[in-house]
Amino acid sequence: MKKTIVKLGRRKSLRVAHTRELYGRLRSLYPDAHVELDYTTPLELLIATILSAQCTDKRVNMVTPVVFKAFPTAQSLADADPAALEDMIRSTGFFRNKTRSLIALGKALVERHNGKVPDSMAELVKLPGVGRKTANVILGNAFNKNEGVVVDTHVGRLAVRLGLTRQTDPVKAEQDLMSLIDRDDWTMLAHVLIFHGRRVCFARSPKCTLCTLAEICPSSTI
Ligand code: SF4
Repeated sequence: MKKTIVKLGRRKSLRVAHTRELYGRLRSLYPDAHVELDYTTPLELLIATILSAQCTDKRVNMVTPVVFKAFPTAQSLADADPAALEDMIRSTGFFRNKTRSLIALGKALVERHNGKVPDSMAELVKLPGVGRKTANVILGNAFNKNEGVVVDTHVGRLAVRLGLTRQTDPVKAEQDLMSLIDRDDWTMLAHVLIFHGRRVCFARSPKCTLCTLAEICPSSTI
C-alpha cells in the first residue's frame, strides 16, 4: 500500500490538511459518533463523567440509572448519605473518592450556581472533581459549546500515533489539536478519535490492517 506520511515539523498547512483528511475519513466511518455515557441533563452527564474515571462507559451506564433516580438534583447530591452513594457506585472503582467528589460537587453547585451546572470553562473547572477534560465533555455535549478538545486516553494515544502532536501531556496535546482543526469540529474530533480508539486503534494491538487511516498514518504497521 502506498503511504502518504506527514511528518511532524513539516509546514503547518500540511499538518492542517493531514488532520482534515483523517478527520473526514473518520467522520465517514463514524457519522453518528457521540459520547457513549447515558444522560439526559447536564448534571447527569457531569455525574457520569466523574464516575467514568478509570472505568468503562458500559460499567458507568449500568450504575447511573439508580444514581440519577436517587439524586435527581444538585441539592439531593449535596445531601447524599455517603455510605448509600458508595454502595451504588462501588463497581466503578475509586468509589470513596468519587463519592466525596460527587457530594462536594452537589454542595458547590447549590452554593455557587443555584443548583445548576454552569456553562463556562472558567466556572466548571472550579468545581470539585472537574478538570479541563470533564469540562470539555460537558460544554461540548450538554451545551453544544466548542471550548476545547476532550483529550482522554484514546484521544491522546491516537493524536500521537497519527502525527497530530508530540505532546503526551493532555493540556499541551489539546492545544495542538485545537490549532489543527476548525473550532466547530473540536467536539466531534474527540468523538471520532475515541470511537476509533475503542474499535480499531487499540492501545496494545492496533488493527492497522483494518484501518481506514493506514495509508496516511505515520504509525501504521502495514
Ligand atoms: S494505521 Fe494503525 S496505528 Fe494508525 S490509526 Fe490505524 S490502527 Fe492506529
